[in-house]
Amino acid sequence: MHHALRLRLDSAALVANWRWLQRQGGAPAGAAVKADGYGLGAREVVRLLGEAGCRDFFVSTWAEAEALGVLPESASLSVLHGVGPSDGAAALASDARPVLNTPGQVARWKEIAPSRACDLMIDTGMNRLGLRMDELSLADGLVIDTLMSHLACADEDSPLNQVQLEKFHLAVSTVSAKRASLANSAGICLGPDYGFDLVRPGLALYGGVPRAEAAGHIAQVAFPEAEVVQRRTVKAFETIGYGATWMAERDTEAAILNIGYADGYLRCFAGKGAASVGGARLPLIGRVSMDLVAVDCSAAPGLAEGDWVTLDYALPQAAEASGLSQYELLTGLSQRLERRWL
Ligand SMILES: *Cc1c(COP(=O)(O)O)cnc(C)c1O
Repeated sequence: MHHALRLRLDSAALVANWRWLQRQGGAPAGAAVKADGYGLGAREVVRLLGEAGCRDFFVSTWAEAEALGVLPESASLSVLHGVGPSDGAAALASDARPVLNTPGQVARWKEIAPSRACDLMIDTGMNRLGLRMDELSLADGLVIDTLMSHLACADEDSPLNQVQLEKFHLAVSTVSAKRASLANSAGICLGPDYGFDLVRPGLALYGGVPRAEAAGHIAQVAFPEAEVVQRRTVKAFETIGYGATWMAERDTEAAILNIGYADGYLRCFAGKGAASVGGARLPLIGRVSMDLVAVDCSAAPGLAEGDWVTLDYALPQAAEASGLSQYELLTGLSQRLERRWL
């Protein structure tokens, strides 16, 4: 089957990003592979990072845990959303550990698997998930592998980072657990004080740059590529696409690419996005028109039907251009893009 859209994925960049994050955090790095490896393909990410030595993986749900299949030798898997009222059977059938997030989940785990290892999330100020600091005694009796908390503002220089760090130290000294883990990608950039025994990058593995410290060290991993459906000349004063928002000032060479909304390439790229081929930059012209976009291909005289171009998708720049977050840019890419690891 010929796919007219693909996502070129750079496995060497993925592994290099993981290694940099591990050095920076000063602690072994796991990998958040929820949301199908942030859209890149969790199985392949786990395989590649497993070969590089990564031993701790994180998914959101039991369905995601099951979809991963067999893990690398001696690797462990944690289910971040824990064990909800309908998760008991799946949790008991799985080798993964739940990350217990609420008093209710703690009680449930004590009832269904009191001697089995779990992870425990502590809320140190984000109010998303986790036991409150005044609920730590509920942890008594649990067999805890990794005690965790999650930073709310690690991508900013917020005083909350230090507050959360201090609260987490207190939790670590109160609750008995094999390991402690606080930092996501942005938290890792705050330095080894935030490293503890395990860091949990997601975004930055896949080319996201959460803070300035990572710029120049984190490499792009995902490159959307689209095929040219047609090359055409737009005459001076003619318009292009839905809404006729763009008018040619002079005769303009346009290439029509088969990528659009359903692929996660959204309207906010109008007037901002671009593609490139052989070093030539091809700016988007007009709106994204459902499944198609037009680019000005004056800079690529030889470009023709059936040729491939690469959309500009370096995450920090694409986020800046589109107003989408780097997370949205990755996880929004649809399954119509054939994933190709190189
Ligand atoms: C998703 C997630 C991570 C990874 O976060 P990034 O910002 O993508 O690095 C780490 N820890 C927890 C608890 C998460 O939910």
